[in-house]
Amino acid sequence: MLGLYVHIPFCAAICNYCNFNRGLFDPALKARYVQAVLQEIRAAGDGSPADTIFFGGGTPSLLEPDEIAALVSACRDAFALATGAEITLEANPESVSEDRLAAYRAAGVNRVSFGVQSFDDAELRRLSRLHTASRAELAVTEARRAGFDNVSLDLMMWLPQQSVSAWLRNVDALCAIRPEHASVYMLELYPNAPLREEMARAQWSLAPDDDAAEMYLQGMERLEKGGYTQYEISNVARPGHESRHNLKYWQDGEWLGFGCGAHSTRHGVRWKNVASTEDYVGSVTAGARLITEERRLSREERLEEALFTGLRLAGGIDLGDIQKRYGVDVWARYRSDLLPFADEGLLVYDVGSLKLTRRGMLLAHEIMTVFISSAVR
Ligand code: SF4
Repeated sequence: MLGLYVHIPFCAAICNYCNFNRGLFDPALKARYVQAVLQEIRAAGDGSPADTIFFGGGTPSLLEPDEIAALVSACRDAFALATGAEITLEANPESVSEDRLAAYRAAGVNRVSFGVQSFDDAELRRLSRLHTASRAELAVTEARRAGFDNVSLDLMMWLPQQSVSAWLRNVDALCAIRPEHASVYMLELYPNAPLREEMARAQWSLAPDDDAAEMYLQGMERLEKGGYTQYEISNVARPGHESRHNLKYWQDGEWLGFGCGAHSTRHGVRWKNVASTEDYVGSVTAGARLITEERRLSREERLEEALFTGLRLAGGIDLGDIQKRYGVDVWARYRSDLLPFADEGLLVYDVGSLKLTRRGMLLAHEIMTVFISSAVR
């Protein structure tokens, strides 16, 4: 079934490390944007079955609950939304209240994902986030009171000046709150990020070091002790609470993205909408072409993607499935390139599957290049 992604590009402030497609909240532009996305969804609707909707951003919780309700209804009208479809809203802790969360729940949202990033106020300030640790904890309590039984939290590791023990305190704080799902990411610094300049001025390490590896390994262990199972390089969940939407990206699935900069992949074709919010609204309103990039993936490219996204999963690549879908014996084809990684204990080949060990996950990008054809390497 299809996954439906809806991009909401507005934020109350711009964080000093962020490289997403987002801009400052502007109520008039937001109202026009929601109308444009509704129009795009209606135009794309073909009644195909879909079982997830994901409101990502930016900060989707800056939309009013009635706007989210209208977007969910448009998806329901345009596609055959499965009973029990997973409907996720990304939210920032400072932008919600119990009433607002209850209204999102009434609008059909059944999973909320909070961008917490840290439970340490000094770390949050360094990231220029608007919330505090206690506000984040309260947001989860409010979500529970509002009826959410599927809550995810994002945490970032290897923050400026963060020690391994400080990171583990964040993990402990997360476990104490008991969300059903958590995503843990390493801070990535894009070239012109203001935070990067601050870090350079303060002479903090700019490249992930041994501490970063320890944070990952010990953090994952602690999450496991807390009752979570790692199912993807950066994601853990309590049983049955894996993100069904994100699994489509890693399991060679199909999805449609709506809104500015949204990507879609369907029937072997990948395309991307125009990135600027103003241009997007202008194009939809004028009935002009929204797509800026579009290309048909060759069979070989689809195979490569299935392999390197599949390797992100803790369960690894299902080799039988790949053989069935692409007619390729993966181990026979890549054996000589993969063996050195297997010998170093970074990769495990078992009958029927190929998966990274946790240490291998730290070097995932390097290992995945094996699957990228020499032409693009
Ligand atoms: S709230 Fe999220 S999307 Fe918005 S600026 Fe901060 S990190 Fe970026």
